[in-house]
Amino acid sequence: MKTILLTISIFLSFLTIVYADSPTTGNSEDLRLYMLDCGSVTVHDMASFSDTGAYPHESMQLSTPCFLIKDPKGWLLWDLGMGDQYLGHTVEDKKHDVSITVKKSLIQQLKSLGLSPKDIKFVGLSHTHFDHMGNVSLFPNAIWLIEKSEYAYTKQTPLASSLDATEVAMLQHDHKILLKGDYDVFGDGKVEILSTPGHTPGHTSLEVHLPHTGVVILSGDLYHTRKAYELKLIPPFNTDRAQTQASMAKIDAILKDSNGRLVIEHDTDDIKALPQFPNYLN
Ligand SMILES: [Zn+2]
Repeated sequence: MKTILLTISIFLSFLTIVYADSPTTGNSEDLRLYMLDCGSVTVHDMASFSDTGAYPHESMQLSTPCFLIKDPKGWLLWDLGMGDQYLGHTVEDKKHDVSITVKKSLIQQLKSLGLSPKDIKFVGLSHTHFDHMGNVSLFPNAIWLIEKSEYAYTKQTPLASSLDATEVAMLQHDHKILLKGDYDVFGDGKVEILSTPGHTPGHTSLEVHLPHTGVVILSGDLYHTRKAYELKLIPPFNTDRAQTQASMAKIDAILKDSNGRLVIEHDTDDIKALPQFPNYLN
């Protein structure tokens, strides 16, 4: 009798463990936002980032993070940073007048969560500039989420100078969903790609509704710095000034309605203020 009871007890505890670990429970408490270190660039002359001359001719370090969203329905990686090929050595990029530094491998950071690239279900890109596409070759099995107009931008001849021909060529061969406007990634309103064009034709931002933190918006390159946010600065290399202003107004309205938190991806203070990996917001 004792043996039977012990067997039943072990069986029940096994069921409990299976239930707790099941990825299909759909519990929104499981929604997490990780910030991964995917490098940084030092821009040698920030004056080129404002069409009203708001920045002095000074250098500035800009972070180039990746973000990982854990949802009960799968993993979403948002933006890809500079690329693991730069790991361990600073590289002068004369074409873009920046120095590139990558101290941590994206692959290794995923590995520390028990993930490999094949576990990433979706990769979303705020846009296709080189500093957001660096690890593009690592995820051949993921479904790419990219604005239709951004994809068309990668096909233009000649290619815009901030795009890397090898990187954007990777997008042609992968599984992808071409978005037209805002897109609810998991179908439950918790993770939404927002159309915020202007920096590039199909630039997007990511809105995440976390169970404890509330709304967080990752704004891609809608802004490059906090100063840009406060003064509504627009780089002269943006593809459309009026669209940029409309996108800024759209994000401001969402932040106001939701009392949300804005994360400016290139702003090193915004990035330092986030939980440092493997810690996360939820
Ligand atoms: Zn950028």
